[in-house]
Amino acid sequence: MKNVISRRGFLAKSATLGAGAYPAMLALNLLPAAPVHAFDLRPGSGQGKHVVILGGGLAGLTSAYELRKLGYRCTILEARERSGGRCWSVRGGATTAETTNLRQTAGFDKGLYFNAGPSRIPHHHLLTMHYCKELGVPLEVYNNVNEGSYYFAEGKGPLSNKKVRAREIHNDMRGYMNELLAKAVSQQQVDTALTAEDGAKVLEYLRAEGGLDIDKLYKASARRGYVEAPGAGNQAGKLTNPHRLADIVSSGLLDPDFYNVAEYTYELQMTMFQAVGGMDRIAQALERRVADCLKLGAQVTTIQNQPDGVKVIYTDQQGTHELGGDLCICTLPLPVLSNLSHNFSSDVSRAIDYVPYIQVGKIGLQFKRRFWEEDEQIYGGITHTNNELTQIFYPSYDYLSPKGILIGYYNFNEKAQRVGELTYAQREQLALQKGQLIHPQYPKEFEQSFSVSWHKQPYSLGGWALYSPEERQTIYQALLKPEHNVYFAGEHTTYLTAWMAGAFESARSTVAAVHNRLSAQRVVYPTVKNN
Ligand SMILES: Cc1cc2nc3c(=O)[nH]c(=O)nc-3n(C[C@H](O)[C@H](O)[C@H](O)COP(=O)(O)OP(=O)(O)OC[C@H]3O[C@@H](n4cnc5c(N)ncnc54)[C@H](O)[C@@H]3O)c2cc1C
Repeated sequence: MKNVISRRGFLAKSATLGAGAYPAMLALNLLPAAPVHAFDLRPGSGQGKHVVILGGGLAGLTSAYELRKLGYRCTILEARERSGGRCWSVRGGATTAETTNLRQTAGFDKGLYFNAGPSRIPHHHLLTMHYCKELGVPLEVYNNVNEGSYYFAEGKGPLSNKKVRAREIHNDMRGYMNELLAKAVSQQQVDTALTAEDGAKVLEYLRAEGGLDIDKLYKASARRGYVEAPGAGNQAGKLTNPHRLADIVSSGLLDPDFYNVAEYTYELQMTMFQAVGGMDRIAQALERRVADCLKLGAQVTTIQNQPDGVKVIYTDQQGTHELGGDLCICTLPLPVLSNLSHNFSSDVSRAIDYVPYIQVGKIGLQFKRRFWEEDEQIYGGITHTNNELTQIFYPSYDYLSPKGILIGYYNFNEKAQRVGELTYAQREQLALQKGQLIHPQYPKEFEQSFSVSWHKQPYSLGGWALYSPEERQTIYQALLKPEHNVYFAGEHTTYLTAWMAGAFESARSTVAAVHNRLSAQRVVYPTVKNN
């Protein structure tokens, strides 16, 4: 008899398989495959050519992975003792030193981690999804939108220092705004050029959207939650009262710190994904494919175009070395590249020296109890504040397990700059002090921390490239062409800055350009467009 396994039976069994479940389910056709973004380059005459790749982040690793499929010889020079670059998940034993802070080593418990760099994959980043599939990296849903998380305005207005659930503010604002609009439409104060019949339909829509009553007024409703939850018998539940619009405004909850970006921004809309076990599982999977051509601890100091190739000088524990190649793909972040010696043209040098990178920081806080889940029913998502923390991220993995790591702050620009100036101990103190205003459980449950200021990481010197629309037309353009025998790749050479997809897209685009040059092929990139 055939050994048949039912879908339900398989799902039940696979729950015990953990990380292996996703590829196994793909193999059994129980999950639809991630959309494949074809990269169909035929092996060509480039065989035997040597490409030197600077940087073993996602762009560098992917360039080598794809070039080697085509028969090229590659060498990746990576300064850190690990690959992945910004794609880094901090677990127990992870270590780093910053430009103004000494070495710190994470002491997190086994099985716990936080993503110091990327933590979210948008469902429409086809290439990121594709590589996860091709490399067998299991994914799980990342809960980016959580109506149960908080808005917390420190020291401002009537709602000052009160933690307010996101669902209260979202529904109050939807209610008040739709009430105002409904009033204006009813009184024909809005020039909608609608027929009476269509106007009535718009009013009905506003009523539904805002949760308005029959008189088109916003009153308390179940949308914003309960003081007493509904239950058995006669326990009907007791509704919460809306906040006054004036209180919401004067407490700063309509300020940019609290914009409802997660639902509106294309890249942050659900469904979002993460790699099971940490986002750097993607980098590690790539590393396994190219390990024999990857030199870790190799810090590039000089890049020289030569008439017939490139010369790269790097240092490692053994000393200083010179490496020649036919071509070079340079994926180093621009602020790092700016400090290296090179013989690039003035246009390229200007771009390297002037593109600013964002200042950004995160701290992982390990707690001995998941109080945010047990006490406050917060499972994933983000709390927003107007203080230095900016955001607290709750983990989207291992729900209801005993311990957990929160991202205690995720801040940007001036706030990240100020916090980045602190010692590790001071950052921890700040995260705990400010965090306990929101979660008073902090002091009792806290165990340890690890913080990363990306603009202080020697081989990053920033979070991601920032371009103005004008710079996209000027200095950016210089990075899109090869500088004689040196090509530039990395998130900063794309319109997907701040995303892993930028690293992947740039790698493919550069590999296509290199292969076109060294073989007789004419590949147009991108080969497939998104729907
Ligand atoms: C805080 C933060 C949050 C993010 N969130 C997300 C997210 O949620 N989702 C998402 O998709 N993306 C996110 N990103 C963006 C994503 O991490 C990057 O776009 C991507 O990892 C960049 O890859 P890369 O290869 O271009 O650059 P890098 O990863 O920076 O690779 C460059 C490599 O060069 C090496 N290097 C530097 N100097 C030298 C030298 N002198 N010699 C040799 N090697 C050197 C570096 O060590 C590094 O490994 C985030 C990034 C940050 C910082």
